[in-house]
Amino acid sequence: MFQKILIANRGEIALRVLRACKELGIQTVVVHSTADADAMHVRLADESVCIGPPPSRDSYLNIHQIVAACEITGADAVHPGYGFLSENAKFADILAAHNITFIGPSGDHIRVMGDKIEAKRTAKRLGIPVVPGSDGAINDDREAKRVAAEIGYPVIIKASAGGGGRGMKVARTEADLEVALQTAKSEAGAAFGDDAVYIEKYLEKPRHIEVQVFGDGAGRGVHFGERDCSLQRRHQKVWEEANSPALNAEERARIGGICASAIADLGYSGAGTIEFLYENGEFYFIEMNTRLQVEHPVTEAITGIDLVHEQIRVASGGGLSVRQEDIKFTGHAIECRINAEDPRTFTPSPGTITHFHTPGGLGIRVDSGVYSGYKIPPYYDSLIGKLIVHGRNRVECMMRLRRALDEFVVDGIKTTLPLFRDLVGNPDIANGDYDIHWLEKYLAEEDHA
Ligand code: ADP
Repeated sequence: MFQKILIANRGEIALRVLRACKELGIQTVVVHSTADADAMHVRLADESVCIGPPPSRDSYLNIHQIVAACEITGADAVHPGYGFLSENAKFADILAAHNITFIGPSGDHIRVMGDKIEAKRTAKRLGIPVVPGSDGAINDDREAKRVAAEIGYPVIIKASAGGGGRGMKVARTEADLEVALQTAKSEAGAAFGDDAVYIEKYLEKPRHIEVQVFGDGAGRGVHFGERDCSLQRRHQKVWEEANSPALNAEERARIGGICASAIADLGYSGAGTIEFLYENGEFYFIEMNTRLQVEHPVTEAITGIDLVHEQIRVASGGGLSVRQEDIKFTGHAIECRINAEDPRTFTPSPGTITHFHTPGGLGIRVDSGVYSGYKIPPYYDSLIGKLIVHGRNRVECMMRLRRALDEFVVDGIKTTLPLFRDLVGNPDIANGDYDIHWLEKYLAEEDHA
């Protein structure tokens, strides 16, 4: 087991990882920018190293500074959290070259999954169902037209290097295709420095369902069930649930089994998430994330298994603590992402939190790094906390969520809490009846927008 882990992240996820390290008796080092000197994870860590000024590229993305911090403090492993360097293959390779363990998969696995064309090809080879589309990059209009005619309109053009929902264009007819292809290519080139794009069938009313997987690096793969993250705004997840209201136990076991054996075949190590669109009873792979997800706590709630403990165990060579047959799903869990944003316009609302009071009681978990008097810096993601609620079934979970949202107080800044208070009372949400477009449509309706 590791002696000392360096946490290369900030906010709620830095604290989340720190808690797991403390439970396992591992010393902790955190790195932080000058803007985060007063952050909770900095206060609670055994050691902290300031690695630079507020902009992420000068601090949380500065590989040299982070490696130097490892060497100064003698950390033998790095947990990257999510975002920042968590899916940076070069970072994983550099750490390996310094004999520091990256708590995550190999640089090569990160690389394969980071290129969407390559990821899709790999998924297909491993027996994972994919969205019908081009086999690889599309180079000209003629090829685009041929593929689109084959799979049928509407189609979506996506950037191979894409992320964060950027560089995607929908073409409803052949007349739209040329413009969509050109726009997607130039957007992708500008945003990612790589203008490779591919085409796939555009699904009209899918749900976003993702499977949590783990590989032990020694050829064993397991799945921890799925999460439904269909409630999105601008392709950003807002509310996540486990299990998905749309799946039954048989479908869960089937898709979970496919993903677990793919992970085993790949020889993958650590946590991963295989993301699908789900429509008319069929799953369509869209991408794989090679890290811990923001929404991992809903899986922890229904399985009772600490996924960060598992990540640390696997990275240290200790293997997984569970076999597939030990993983049982109990009850239902929902996570709401509390962002420091205007609940109507979603514009960031940094500033000082004058009063912060979290709900409590059975089945309630709050993961947050903020406190009363904390000043939210304007430089980073607006997520300030996550409310995770567990109940014996979805109805109990929703009752408890409504109560917890009423108790939650965040004064001094705007947050997305009022949006969630509206959503819990909505009949479609109560019935679990929503797809990836539901929230945008709801927000566009006059009385909510
Ligand atoms: P990114 O990495 O940029 O987030 P993804 O491939 O994960 O890109 O897609 C993000 C979102 O875009 C999906 O959750 C879904 O809402 C939408 N999307 C992607 N591919 C399709 C598709 N083939 N049909 C319909 N919607 C899609």
